[in-house]
Amino acid sequence: MSFSQMNLNPLISKAITICGYDKPTPVQARCIPEILEGKDLIASARTGTGKTATFVLPALQRLSAKKSISKPRILILTPTRELASQICVAAAKYGKFLRFNIVNIVGGMSYRQQIKALPRADIIVATPGRLLDHMENDRVDLSDIEMLIFDEADRMFDMGFIEDVQTIAKETPKHRQTLLFSATLDEKLGHLVRHMLKNPVRIDLSQERIAPIQIAQKIYMADHSQHKKRLFHHFLQNENIFKAIIFSATKKDADRLAYELCDMGYRAAALHGDLKQSQRNRTVDQLRHGKIQFLVATDVAARGIDIADITHVINYDLPRFCEDYVHRIGRTGRAGKSGVAISFALPADARHLQRIERFTNQKLPRETISGLEPSAKHQASSEKFTKKKPKRFKPQAKKKHFHTGAKNASGKRSDFRRKEAVTTKK
Ligand code: AMP
Repeated sequence: MSFSQMNLNPLISKAITICGYDKPTPVQARCIPEILEGKDLIASARTGTGKTATFVLPALQRLSAKKSISKPRILILTPTRELASQICVAAAKYGKFLRFNIVNIVGGMSYRQQIKALPRADIIVATPGRLLDHMENDRVDLSDIEMLIFDEADRMFDMGFIEDVQTIAKETPKHRQTLLFSATLDEKLGHLVRHMLKNPVRIDLSQERIAPIQIAQKIYMADHSQHKKRLFHHFLQNENIFKAIIFSATKKDADRLAYELCDMGYRAAALHGDLKQSQRNRTVDQLRHGKIQFLVATDVAARGIDIADITHVINYDLPRFCEDYVHRIGRTGRAGKSGVAISFALPADARHLQRIERFTNQKLPRETISGLEPSAKHQASSEKFTKKKPKRFKPQAKKKHFHTGAKNASGKRSDFRRKEAVTTKK
């Protein structure tokens, strides 16, 4: 399947050619034809696989087939503000010759600008909390939405947005087309969304969960936090790092690490949910344009950030959820480029590391640095765990917070605004 076989509007094809896309990625080749036929769809696709174009191109195609009306026709819901901004950028790129109005409705940004932009919106890309806010104040009319798209639905529901999403969906026409993208597909998710989709085509690209081969993954065992620090310094001095995202467990750690890096003379900044949205946007832009070399982030940045030349991801701390491991390392090795993912693991992480290996269905290579080897006991225990016969993985089984989140979001506006802002609170 090529892009030309998809019979897209020539102005969309022209934009794709300018982007340098020769052929559709596997997720695009599988999903776009089904979407163009008007079917509802549930698909599992990893970020970094061309997922955004998978829904944006058919959305633009739909818009271009009919004259614009003065109401929004496409609604894209995402869990994080960063992801929403990136979708807007991608949609503007793919639709640059069509001149549709794409409006970004996320928390942390000026109400005034959003209120001004909403009446002219063809496409709304939103996080649920702020969109509901506008809906409650009659500032947006969703009665002509033709396509409702949930991106990273699993994450959105994990963050407690299920009821908000359902409320929003109810305000859109029943005959709309609905697309749902999620990193993982399981029964629980299927159950939650079953009323929102009509006979959806299910496209399971869960194999894509396995990290692309162009990402070299390495695990370094550290006996204690000082050892971890020494390993980290070793990489700073010896590894050829062009641009990196370093992931830490907490916001405080992210601030501390960024501060230490700056102190050592590196250009670095922290990114986490306690920072103002404008500051978060600025920091991501600084990384994109090479003004900083290191971004120290909590998981708020794990999804969505699409910067082509990130050469390294460093998991200073392992992520709490296995799927975040895949999302984190997917910030490098993007669009066919190679990348390196380095993870540090303390003795207490041994079991969790094994869970990550089960989730990604691969054994992650343990590496050592001469002079910085872990104690034999620690290395051996980590190896021993991974040699156990893996049990069949059930992705949602560990996510006990799933229900709690949904419950907390029931009608409590202040609650879900807070959730949006502190997605990474551990
Ligand atoms: P996404 O998964 O949407 O975040 O996309 C990841 C990266 O792949 C982005 O940098 C896109 O510009 C790029 N991309 C998307 N589709 C294609 C394609 N068909 N060929 C080459 N690169 C692509």
